[in-house]
Amino acid sequence: MYINNYFVYIRNNVVLMRLALSTILLFLSLSTDISNASDRGGNQLFQQALELYQTLSSDPDNMNDKEVWITIAKAFNSIYIEYPQSEKAPDALFLSGKMYEEAGLRFDSKDHLEKSVKLSREFTENYPQSPLADDAQIRIARIIELTDKQKAYTEYHQVIKSYPNGNMFNAASSKLRDLRPHKPAVKVTTNEYNTKSKKSSSSGLVSVSKIRRWSTEDYTRVVIHVDKEMPFKHYFLKADKKRGTPPRLFVDIKGTTVDTHLEESIDSGLLESIKFARHSKDTVRVVLYIRSFKDYRVFELHNPFRIVMDIYDKESSPANINVAAAPKKPPSPKADISKNIKLETPSQDIADWLGLKVNTVVIDPGHGGHDPGAIGPGGVKEKDVNLKIAKALKKKIEKDGTIPKVILTRTDDRFIPLEERTAIARKLNADLFISIHCNASKRRKAHGIETYILSFTKDPEALEVAARENASNTRGLSDLADIIKKYVLNSKIDQSMSLAKSVQNSIVTTLDGKYSYINNKGVKKAPFVVLIGTDVPSILIEASFISNPREEKRLKSKKYINTLAEGILAGLKKYSKNKQIAYISK
Ligand SMILES: [Zn+2]
Repeated sequence: MYINNYFVYIRNNVVLMRLALSTILLFLSLSTDISNASDRGGNQLFQQALELYQTLSSDPDNMNDKEVWITIAKAFNSIYIEYPQSEKAPDALFLSGKMYEEAGLRFDSKDHLEKSVKLSREFTENYPQSPLADDAQIRIARIIELTDKQKAYTEYHQVIKSYPNGNMFNAASSKLRDLRPHKPAVKVTTNEYNTKSKKSSSSGLVSVSKIRRWSTEDYTRVVIHVDKEMPFKHYFLKADKKRGTPPRLFVDIKGTTVDTHLEESIDSGLLESIKFARHSKDTVRVVLYIRSFKDYRVFELHNPFRIVMDIYDKESSPANINVAAAPKKPPSPKADISKNIKLETPSQDIADWLGLKVNTVVIDPGHGGHDPGAIGPGGVKEKDVNLKIAKALKKKIEKDGTIPKVILTRTDDRFIPLEERTAIARKLNADLFISIHCNASKRRKAHGIETYILSFTKDPEALEVAARENASNTRGLSDLADIIKKYVLNSKIDQSMSLAKSVQNSIVTTLDGKYSYINNKGVKKAPFVVLIGTDVPSILIEASFISNPREEKRLKSKKYINTLAEGILAGLKKYSKNKQIAYISK
């Protein structure tokens, strides 16, 4: 194409650069007829505008020429307008907004900054599922912050509210902390935005907005986010040797459409690849091509609606102690001695060798980020207390040294979806998973400590706790019943029970000597999403009632937090020791 010739000359030459740009613009203005016929035109022009943009940033002369900036910004905008179907249209719109912002700041031009806000807003509205949408939203916030800090607060809030998994989350959270004095008096409502971003596409179909996945050697979890609850069915196809196709697990999601931005390269794990496409006019099909597997599960979660697909390559271990764990090294001479001394803790070496030792514990401080958890009558937020307990516990475990490795699922105030927390534990090959929460009840007087393991239950009180922690409703829970039954069959339920008992009793004993009115509510079962799919002993601790004024007050004190942590640690150690004794005395 003749435009290419200009690129030879534009280096360091403002005049020629402008000429090249005006040629692009001219081409754009002439090319409307063919724009619908050919998306490639849009791609080519985008490439050229991009090269000009790159040339611009490497040349100080051009950098100081306002007109060059604006011309390139216009070129990007024209590509977006003229080639709306081009795959480069979103990028063009995004870059146009970016260039207007840079030009506005560089040349102190209010008009260009306003233009940037307008284009960035257009981007978040038209491409809410794009990985750049949060970047566009934070740009809006950044520009507005120059003139109106209160409005900027609302815009930054939008980043964490609408894109909790985006990479701008931390930047926006830290801005919100800085801008706290400017927080609008009226609660920031984001409903308007949410309905916009969650609106059905022009075709009346709901978007499949995100596909995430985590993998270990023997486990892969894929989570499909759908903007609204839609009916879906899953199917499994065995490998077809004739055709050379691997086993496939797929879901068909009715009434949905899918955005090409979702495409991502696949990492290892148990999958060869994930493919997704519109299967029929109104159905999106997501197909997992499986390299290796023993078992799989598919289930749904709510608020927001998502479909979870778990694939396992390991037989779930029996409920009792797993002695099949691969020896890490040959037995040392000490091994024989230890075996003979019954009812005593085996030496570290043999415990390690038999896979009995708790090497890694994952501690999961519940909630975080835009999800505060329960809030006490005095305004104490559960997410903050959970994090404090978790950090205190980590410190104590490290100081104690019995368990060599301790990892938190979050170390600051950030939102992590429930299914991701479990996946983190699997990824780290944890031996134990401890989720830390605080309880709440409508009855102010309710108080005490309880510890849960995963199971289904008919106990309305336990169901209420699970519904709150799952950020779901009881209907969501009954949908989970079947899947939980399946999981419980294979989960380490006995070990989880023994861990729960040790921890519950140790917390109560540790607190009892130091505080009055300690209420032991015991070990209970309930369907907690955060415990679904862990393959190690897992418990959820409701450390105290944040809704009870006395316990809320205690949860504010460092001493109480430390005593709780001390109790949990004592429970972990007792469990670990019992487990080793139980094996040796067999
Ligand atoms: Zn909680």
